[in-house]
Amino acid sequence: MQLNFACTQCGRCCQNHRVPLSVHEATAWLRRGGDVHLLCDAIAWPAEPAQGDAPAQYRRQRSFAAASGALPVRVGVILAASFPGRCPHLMGDKRCSIYAERPLVCRIYPASINPFEPLGAEFKASKACPPEAWDAHGPAFARAGQLVDAATLPLIDEARRRAVQEMPAKQRLCDALGIRVAAMANEGFAVHQPARAELLAALQQCSDSDGGAAADSPPGHWQLLSPQPQTLQILHEVGAQAQHAHQAAGLAVEYLDLHAPTP
Ligand code: SF4
Ligand code: SF4
Repeated sequence: MQLNFACTQCGRCCQNHRVPLSVHEATAWLRRGGDVHLLCDAIAWPAEPAQGDAPAQYRRQRSFAAASGALPVRVGVILAASFPGRCPHLMGDKRCSIYAERPLVCRIYPASINPFEPLGAEFKASKACPPEAWDAHGPAFARAGQLVDAATLPLIDEARRRAVQEMPAKQRLCDALGIRVAAMANEGFAVHQPARAELLAALQQCSDSDGGAAADSPPGHWQLLSPQPQTLQILHEVGAQAQHAHQAAGLAVEYLDLHAPTP
């Protein structure tokens, strides 16, 4: 499938979204008075995958080792700007008030950082862009399933590099904030919402910390959330600490269900 794309500057991608941020971007976002949440998910990791298993290696590089009861897991953490409705930086004329400093993800959209997301009809349908943005007369966006937009490719490389580089800081951040709840990957996310000042202080502390990987910190006893009775049953059988996603509120987190019907 070939895709052509030209942004219509409709501003739809600046509304009703969470914007993934780097550690540096999250700090800046908080300092401007915005809110940042931590989205945590986990995947069972009983053994190391083969070197040739590209999706598993990709996941491994973007997560840290932990444990839930007897079950080894890897935990992923996304720092995300969160706002109900419009982004606080979206102006009335649909321009971005922090355009020169906007997050990398805003510069990359509608392209995806995930190299395993097929660039087809489903990809197009999942984006906020109106149909006219995908007009065949627009600049080439993807050819034969590969992104060809020359301006975006280096930005994606940068986002991928940064995601790997920041994992130790994110592990330290979870330790500093006492975060120990994650949703099962591909089902949802546990959304942690620390107070702005607390998160700012923790980000400062964790990004200043020296020493690369936080390998010496204890793996912790992570609680896993799932809305699926079958998933919960399997997790309990392998000795994991798991709770129904409906009990997330009791753990002071929200559960974001990736498969909930769109209202
Ligand atoms: S920071 Fe700017 S580009 Fe990014 S979502 Fe907000 S208004 Fe849109
Ligand atoms: S939703 Fe798509 S077309 Fe509209 S401003 Fe965002 S990137 Fe451009």
